[in-house]
Amino acid sequence: MPIPCKTGCGKNAMLKRPKTGDALCKECFFWAFETEIHFTITKGELFKRGDYVAVAASGGKDSTVLAHVLKTLNQRYDYGLKLMLLSIDEGITGYRDDSLETVKRNRDDYEMMLKILSYKDLYGWTMDEIVEQIGRKNNCTFCGVFRRQALDRGAAMLNVKCIATGHNADDIAETVLMNILRGDIARLKRCTAITTGSEGTIPRVKPLKYTYEKEIVMYAHYKQLVYFSTECVFAPNAYRGHARALLKDLEKVRPSCIMDIIYSGETLAVKEEVSLPTLRVCSRCKFVSSQEVCKACVLLEGLNKGLPKLGIGKSSKAKKMLEQYQTEQKLKEIDELNNEFKKKNCLSQGKLCKSGCNKNKASYKNIDNECTSTENNSNDELSGNPKLNILLKEYSLKDSNKDDEKESNETEDVIEENTCAGTHGGDCFSIAF
Ligand code: SF4
Repeated sequence: MPIPCKTGCGKNAMLKRPKTGDALCKECFFWAFETEIHFTITKGELFKRGDYVAVAASGGKDSTVLAHVLKTLNQRYDYGLKLMLLSIDEGITGYRDDSLETVKRNRDDYEMMLKILSYKDLYGWTMDEIVEQIGRKNNCTFCGVFRRQALDRGAAMLNVKCIATGHNADDIAETVLMNILRGDIARLKRCTAITTGSEGTIPRVKPLKYTYEKEIVMYAHYKQLVYFSTECVFAPNAYRGHARALLKDLEKVRPSCIMDIIYSGETLAVKEEVSLPTLRVCSRCKFVSSQEVCKACVLLEGLNKGLPKLGIGKSSKAKKMLEQYQTEQKLKEIDELNNEFKKKNCLSQGKLCKSGCNKNKASYKNIDNECTSTENNSNDELSGNPKLNILLKEYSLKDSNKDDEKESNETEDVIEENTCAGTHGGDCFSIAF
């Protein structure tokens, strides 16, 4: 026997709302769903009239419903917003390429401008290439860090006031649980905020903060919205998966648990000494960071230098790895310079020089049977290589063949005397740390 819609509209109920258990007809469900989001927006003061707002669009259910509802509410309540879509192409074959087609469809359906930024253009790497380099572990760390920054960059290009993301109530409850289970109190403190971002950053807002995932699926289904539902091919068995499974089990027993967990997260009192990191500007990319060099730059440096684990884990570990790498590079470069200089500047004395300089007058004066010069055999001229001097300066190193006083006078001379005739002796020159 049909159940009447709980609102008393006279129609039969078509569904039971997962959030409240109310039996509603389709139209009353749409109305309740949209009105709740409207209240979230107005109560949280997410937008101001005339704002340009970028909707972070992935083609999935959350962002598709978000774009659709924002467009509906913008018209219904005359928010006066300029809405546009912002998508990030991570370069994941079989996933993002297909989902971007859905975003393009959204662009046409909702008549919104669309901006797509790709990891390849921004960082020189696709996620496919990153996974090839780093394997299936930690790939989401790269993806998440790069996406966060890519969205910031896209939003800056579009000159928008804020970025609206499709985080729903389930996502937020999961995050609260995860932070409790990990004891990550600093994150727990901020994870329920409806608006995030600090001075100098473009704020992110979550209009779906109190919207249940199940209702989003229902809404998309009954509205026949086009969205992409395939999971990322690199989706890992991350810790979040356990929090999600736990939440789903709890939800079966007590559907209100999602709202209850969010409420708990919002009202938890965290000790004052638990402080959030101070934000500043990354010295490289100039985007906001809690470190001198932001995580995206560290990860990218690691990839480019063949040290993909550089940005994984603690920053002190990354610093150590980078220092080790730089020392190796310095030694390598210095070795190359030594050899190059030997070849170029050797004045041999009659026999073939063993250093490989191709001059045939070696005097075999040193223990290595390499040529030595007979005149002007001074350290001043040994450093007659501007490339070397730049390197020495850059790394604040000293030429071990010289005393400090001499060195300080040499740099300028040497640069001027780039055409040194190479009257060098001994083992030409060497640098030591
Ligand atoms: Fe990126 Fe991981 Fe999400 Fe895939 S699952 S899109 S790799 S963050």
